[in-house]
Amino acid sequence: MTTLPCFLRRRRLAVSLSVVLALAGALAQAPAASAPPAQQKTQVPGYYRMMLGQFEVTALYDGHVDLDTKIFRYSSPREVQRLLARMFVASTPGMQTAVNAYLIHTGGNLVLVDTGTAACFGSALGHVAQNLRAAGYEPAQVDTVLLTHLHPDHACGLVADGKPVFANATVYVDQADAAYWLDEAAAARAPQDAQAVFALARAAVAPYQAAGRLRAYGAGDTLVPGVTAVPEHGHTPGHSGYLFRSGGQGMLVWGDVVHSHAVQFRRPEVAMAFDVDSRQAVSARKAILAQAARGKLWVAGAHLPFPGIGHVRAEGHGYVWVPVEYGPVRTDR
Ligand SMILES: [Zn+2]
Repeated sequence: MTTLPCFLRRRRLAVSLSVVLALAGALAQAPAASAPPAQQKTQVPGYYRMMLGQFEVTALYDGHVDLDTKIFRYSSPREVQRLLARMFVASTPGMQTAVNAYLIHTGGNLVLVDTGTAACFGSALGHVAQNLRAAGYEPAQVDTVLLTHLHPDHACGLVADGKPVFANATVYVDQADAAYWLDEAAAARAPQDAQAVFALARAAVAPYQAAGRLRAYGAGDTLVPGVTAVPEHGHTPGHSGYLFRSGGQGMLVWGDVVHSHAVQFRRPEVAMAFDVDSRQAVSARKAILAQAARGKLWVAGAHLPFPGIGHVRAEGHGYVWVPVEYGPVRTDR
């Protein structure tokens, strides 16, 4: 360090003081700080993207529904409340439950797994087509729709005002689900309060059926290259997941294997009121969770917290959900 001559040090001090005084003067004359901007209170667009080998996967958010906690089976209300509380899931006005769909560009096909609720469940949902557009695609570009099952939160999005939303798509569904939900005689035998669900399923596929573009597939049938159907029967008679494979990686888009992440990873034996065969649904859930954990598969769930993509890890007598991390669309692994 060099020592400044005394007069220079005084001069520097004088300059510094003048700068401070000038700044203070400017601040005194500045207008009062303006009011803060209004809070936005709107959510960001509902899509999330990642690569699975050469396949591009886009999660699409349809919306949310607040489910009544009374829908659980094989568990006490007290246990349900405890399991929800330990995951900080509110139970009033109901359990917030996402509805997700998945768009997979395989390079050869643009495949949509499930279509959301459209207008069937009110304005908190029905945003799959809107988020598909926000994600850079048009519904008319989808060539294949794979339905995990024919419940209205998965199939209603096929149509708008009776017209097909995916005008160029062929729709695939397991033949057991088609036989159960689309047969008018079977519907007539169902309880009165379930009749509407059957009617919604028939209305959703009607224009595709009329155009010869509804395919009810059986075990071993090929769908599109790189995709195989995985039977998960029980929640509905033909409930199925779709296993996408590319570049040595696998992702099981599993539909409704888990409705409540807080309850059913920890306790896979807990069922839901809207399972058609709850015992079979529990068996399917246990088998699929074991397969996903053992195979270290990516999984994508229609009712897991958005984007609903992640891994399953075995822990104790149950499982832990490990969600994907938001980040760049990586093509380097
Ligand atoms: Zn569902």
